[in-house]
Amino acid sequence: MTRLRLQNVEKSYDAISVIKGIDLTIDSGEFVVFVGPSGCGKSTLLRMIAGLEEITHGQLLIDDEEMTHRPATERGIAMVFQSYALYPNMTVRGNLAYPLEVARRPKAEIASAIAETASKLHLTELLDRLPRALSGGQRQRVAIGRAIIRKPRIFLFDEPLSNLDAELRLQMRIEIARLHASLGNTMIYVTHDQLEAMTLADRIVVLRQGRIEQTGTPLALYHDPDNLFVAGFIGSPRMNFIDAEIAAIAEGEIQLRLSAPGIESLTMSIGAPCREGQKVRVGIRPEHVQPATGAGPGHFSAELTYCEQLGHTNYLYLNIGSEQMLVVEERQVEQRELGSQVTLAIPPQHCLLFDENGQRLR
Ligand code: ADP
Ligand code: MG
Repeated sequence: MTRLRLQNVEKSYDAISVIKGIDLTIDSGEFVVFVGPSGCGKSTLLRMIAGLEEITHGQLLIDDEEMTHRPATERGIAMVFQSYALYPNMTVRGNLAYPLEVARRPKAEIASAIAETASKLHLTELLDRLPRALSGGQRQRVAIGRAIIRKPRIFLFDEPLSNLDAELRLQMRIEIARLHASLGNTMIYVTHDQLEAMTLADRIVVLRQGRIEQTGTPLALYHDPDNLFVAGFIGSPRMNFIDAEIAAIAEGEIQLRLSAPGIESLTMSIGAPCREGQKVRVGIRPEHVQPATGAGPGHFSAELTYCEQLGHTNYLYLNIGSEQMLVVEERQVEQRELGSQVTLAIPPQHCLLFDENGQRLR
């Protein structure tokens, strides 16, 4: 069991506040991903958990034991970095052995731990190589091996795949997911890549400017975001947002006037209090805008300005006026001509509504 708790954790460098009050409990065995744009404080928070940065305010507890100011070596945590941080003059074997040699483990135990770790990470053939004779993916596997060989309670990963090319990233993502399934340890993984977060996490923590915007399972964040930031950050291509105004409210139904000239008004049911004349934004994901045929209620047509053809899917970029672009995912791939008119429908049941401050109106 390894539970981790952050209570009102803050970090400042002199007058600059970087982490602004984080409350979070991570359950034993959970795979939690911190995701957010560059500079939002992901690495700082991870380093505070590892004991590599002082915690300015608040508390860190591991299995209910106060760890806030305990040295890194006493926390039972291993960290894997983007830069691999391997010793260049040591072979793979030497790099793997190092943490156990420092801990003065017996030679036989070190040898068997190396064999076990190398087999788990497909490094057996590479044990006598130096890091410079390894590919990026192999180096990262050694870095992960050096972390798991110590059998820590908690693993921390800071953008471990960012230096790898796309195909290798995918492969390593699967390996890391497998590793978590086989080891079962608590893991915290930091990335700016929402796709990595979606595919790896039991639970995602979305960070922005040192604060948590929302915490939830990947699908909860995707389908039920609390605010505009999370709605826009999770999902690719990102959710479409259209400016709108509440034109009328009647019996729980609100009528919206959209700022996109071609699109008719839209009616949604919302429980949250709102008022006529209120400025809002409507969010709709690219896969929820439906190509339609002919005239019908809520149908509109827009000019195709750009089309990304991926083979199994088209992404249509449509001009809906006022310099706004609507991105539509089309699964029934058709040959489309740029400049042609595409008829579409926006199903209100898939629309999300956000207020002036970007908070979700449910
Ligand atoms: P992320 O990992 O999400 O990209 P970081 O945690 O590295 O972000 O940084 C968060 C913020 O803290 C950034 O604005 C960065 O400039 C600032 N920061 C990080 N380290 C220091 C430092 N030693 N002194 C002052 N500011 C720092
Ligand atoms: Mg970082």
